[in-house]
Amino acid sequence: MSRLQTRMATAVAVTALAAAPAFLGVFSITLLNYIGIYALVALGLVLMTGIGGMVSFGQASFVGIAAYATAWTSALMGYSPWLGLLLALVMTGLVAAVIGAVTLRLGGHFLSLSTIAWGLAIYFSFGNIDGLGNYNGIASIPPISIGSHSLADSADIYYLIWGALIAAMLGTHNLLNSRVGRAIRALRGGNALVESLGINAFQVRLVTFVAAALMAAVAGWLYAHMTRFISPTPFDVHVSIDYLMMALVGGSSHLLGAVVGAALVTLMKNYIQDLLPLLAPNTSGRLEIVVFSVLFILFLQRARDGIVPYVARWLPPPRQEFPGKAEPLPRRRQPAKGTPLLKVDAAVRRFGGLVAVNEVSFELRAGEILGLIGPNGAGKSTMFNLITGALRPSGGKIVFAGRDITRAAPRHIARAGIARTFQHVKLRPRMSLLDNVLLGLYPRTSAGYVASALRLDRAEERRARHEAIKQLERVGLGARPFELAGNLPLGNQRILEIARALAADPILLLLDEPAAGLRRREKLALAELLRSLRAEGLTILLVEHDMDFVMNLVDRIVVMDFGCKIGEGAPQTVRNDPRVQEAYLGGVA
Ligand code: ADP
Ligand code: MG
Repeated sequence: MSRLQTRMATAVAVTALAAAPAFLGVFSITLLNYIGIYALVALGLVLMTGIGGMVSFGQASFVGIAAYATAWTSALMGYSPWLGLLLALVMTGLVAAVIGAVTLRLGGHFLSLSTIAWGLAIYFSFGNIDGLGNYNGIASIPPISIGSHSLADSADIYYLIWGALIAAMLGTHNLLNSRVGRAIRALRGGNALVESLGINAFQVRLVTFVAAALMAAVAGWLYAHMTRFISPTPFDVHVSIDYLMMALVGGSSHLLGAVVGAALVTLMKNYIQDLLPLLAPNTSGRLEIVVFSVLFILFLQRARDGIVPYVARWLPPPRQEFPGKAEPLPRRRQPAKGTPLLKVDAAVRRFGGLVAVNEVSFELRAGEILGLIGPNGAGKSTMFNLITGALRPSGGKIVFAGRDITRAAPRHIARAGIARTFQHVKLRPRMSLLDNVLLGLYPRTSAGYVASALRLDRAEERRARHEAIKQLERVGLGARPFELAGNLPLGNQRILEIARALAADPILLLLDEPAAGLRRREKLALAELLRSLRAEGLTILLVEHDMDFVMNLVDRIVVMDFGCKIGEGAPQTVRNDPRVQEAYLGGVA
């Protein structure tokens, strides 16, 4: 499908949506209204679960908080539904922030399990608060009105519902293609990388969680004023599971998945409810749940990624423009060459009984390349993890640029100017080369959620993209920035990590076996790159196995073996040191 065809398809879809009330009966429009409201909740789940990797079984309770907030405001207190919207957003946002702050630190399944707990708790409190009508609910909720026009008819509130959904989709779409959006997309796959890039993973999770809850809140507000009556039932945990199902069935990695999933699940439920009594007249109403569950299991077996990815294959790839010229981002001032930059003082790290790093001390001066060598298991990567804060030292002290970073968090160390690569490559394989490098630029940019959703971040984004392309070109990967990182050969993935590290404009660059998996010619190019970086004043700490590579490049070498430092000096001195030869080079160098 060409771009023009997509535009036309979109135009047809929007026109069809806009014209629907003129052609469809009240029943169909009401169904579309429900689909729109559910899709809004599912959209939040696509964002937080499908893209951000946080599973929530409690989304219906956010819908409920908003619905009750606005019902209380308008039906019980007699104020405008718009004031109800405000209260709904504030209440839901606050509750989500508190719940998020408490539970989002829990890793893995604990988070999902806790969502069931608070989902239940909130559901039961609706039924047990006297002022909210207990299990009888709240009736005679007034319709929303815009000016003097009341949206009491389903055909009227239809436009508000679908307008809100489309606005939320546009905002989410913009968000995902922004600085914070990339951070959200990077959350899946663990905190280690995200934090090493100076990103506060907890904060990104929390705000994403609250954003999803706010979408549920708007849905709850619309729901209350559409149905004009609420009780606790539609906010029960099993409804949360329906929402999750919608996101999954539609395709939780794609925004359209929310709409497709909501439509499909709603229509199917409707259909099954109509059909079952005909097929099995004497069964209770619960049978539909069984049928639905079976269908869902079949679905998960056959099409785990949902429906939209199937369809998306025929859609044109998103437009990818080569970033044009833009004003460069401000850079850090590098310390004067030769000033002491990093001081590792008797660093110790134990793993149970194993001493992986044993009282190792060394210093790094600005503008030099220091090689850290030693046989496998000597403790080199552990040393890197101590310096970057990925591991806490069991003893000793590490000072960087005059600041004690011994117990600092990785993201603070990253922001202080230490950038690293990983021995076991940590990229986001399903993000493009460009997006992976842009992740490295996170601390140098500042656009927040709201600015990004409204596309107010474009000037900064242009500068960031320009810079990212520059770094890709610099390491020799500038030709195809929109390629997925996972498609690169492993050697080039390491090089991509270097581009990402350079994007952070570091003072100190830590490279863990960067030449592994490179061909000879690529190694020469890498050595050339590192030399030019040094010439610009960057300081580099390098772990590498290829002795030729190290010896011709570095200014000094530190040798480790079994966690201890066993030698230090200029490459030639170290090469001739008998202790080093015995331990590391097996006496044959
Ligand atoms: P190198 O990078 O020099 O090959 P490492 O620093 O990766 O060595 O490992 C040093 C020693 O510490 C090894 O014996 C390794 O098995 C052990 N080690 C490293 N990380 C851990 C960990 N997270 N838990 C337990 N042992 C570890
Ligand atoms: Mg290692």
